[in-house]
Amino acid sequence: MEIKKKKETAEGGKMEKIISLCKRRGFIYPGSEIYGGLSGAWDYGSFGLSLKNNIKNSWWKKFVEERDDMYGIDAAILMNAKVWEASGHIAGFSDPLVECSKCHSQYRADQIGFPPDHFQNMKKGMPSISYVFVPPKCEKCGSAENWFSPIMFNMMFKTNVGPVEDKGSVSYLRPETAQGMFVNFKNVMDSFHPRLPFGMAQIGKAFRNEISPRDFLFRAREFEQMEIEYFTRESEWEKYFESFRTEILDWLADIGLDKDSIHELEVSAEDRAHYSKRTIDFEFDYPFGRKELLGLAYRTDFDLSAHIGKSGADLSYYDEETKDRFVPHCIEPSFGLDRMILAILCEVYTEDEMGGEKRIFLKFKPTVAPVKVAVFPLLKNKPELVKKAQIIFSELKKEIRPIVFDDNGNIGKRYRRQDEIGTPFCVTIDFDTLENDTVTVRDRDTGKQERVKTGELSSFIKNSLK
Ligand code: ATP
Repeated sequence: MEIKKKKETAEGGKMEKIISLCKRRGFIYPGSEIYGGLSGAWDYGSFGLSLKNNIKNSWWKKFVEERDDMYGIDAAILMNAKVWEASGHIAGFSDPLVECSKCHSQYRADQIGFPPDHFQNMKKGMPSISYVFVPPKCEKCGSAENWFSPIMFNMMFKTNVGPVEDKGSVSYLRPETAQGMFVNFKNVMDSFHPRLPFGMAQIGKAFRNEISPRDFLFRAREFEQMEIEYFTRESEWEKYFESFRTEILDWLADIGLDKDSIHELEVSAEDRAHYSKRTIDFEFDYPFGRKELLGLAYRTDFDLSAHIGKSGADLSYYDEETKDRFVPHCIEPSFGLDRMILAILCEVYTEDEMGGEKRIFLKFKPTVAPVKVAVFPLLKNKPELVKKAQIIFSELKKEIRPIVFDDNGNIGKRYRRQDEIGTPFCVTIDFDTLENDTVTVRDRDTGKQERVKTGELSSFIKNSLK
């Protein structure tokens, strides 16, 4: 089967190695694993969570805190179903589903090679054009001829609010955080009276009932988004679209993604979402191919106008200077947090040889590294070393966090463990420490050790972490 073959050979099984490291070292576990898992759901462990928080904080700092024109929001995941009628998600948030009539495996049609025109017409409610194409093979049974015709499958998770399961109680888990911002547009206007241009920003969970979740965190059913809805006058959208384009690239470099691994794709009119007049997908070279990492879209006044139409609320803007009243237009940078984490893991995963042995290490930028420093006593069974190491650990922890104390296994094993976690520095307390109050500081990338006075340790590490 072609797809499986591709996976096995992708950079020598890099994805499998990353998934295995993530589980082994407490970054990411399969969701509900002891019950056989749940497809498309992943649980973050201690170091994964720390990495995730570092990325979120860096994003929030750059796109919200450092600016004067952003308003944060944390809207509820459950929203009135009318939100999704207005936004077009009930009518059109669907993917083409095909089923193998032989083994009944289901797939997203475009992911396994059905031609895009086939379902683009279906999306628009037009009959699919009849033309000749070679049908793809079923990934499970290998059959190529036995496909039921594609149907459009709505990806929103439906639920009921309250004890009665009827039409009136239907709600959905939000498939994007964006609508939580559009429906709060008036609240933000009334509370803060911002002048255009200004933006709203939100980090939160989104849910999509993906037909076939795949590629680890890349396509999950529950994931997190970091989104901005930036409101501007229609005449100025291009200017702000461009400035976000630059800022996105700057931030991706800040968190350690190589600019050569990022590619901008101008999305064609046929492929754009119904609300967009221009979209750039920022793609990343994942081991399984070049795929969308995040999107930048010009959503026009589509959403605010749709909510005005459906709710009757006044979501217009009054310009005091020109005495004009109008509906603002909107630029949306939309980042998938889990895809970002996966991109960083792929970027930093490194194999090399040190001291004649193979090693794996994660070359995180210090700002995103889940652990900044590890402190070790050279030997576990020497109380004087352990005691001194604990004192140094407690002192250092007042200045630098998160840091860990590790006395488990021999020193070589401890270095390897920290390399796999991506800890930039390991501090070892040895017999010389007891004599002259110096420790060794080992650099993760080079393995080189330097002796540093304990009194200068925190400033030495702080400088090196910059
Ligand atoms: P795709 O074409 O890959 O399905 P999309 O274009 O539908 O993605 P958007 O609706 O633009 O995605 O969502 C914004 C961002 O949310 C994406 O760029 C991506 O980073 C993230 N995202 C979307 N779907 C998923 C998913 N199933 N799992 C993880 N992240 C996702």
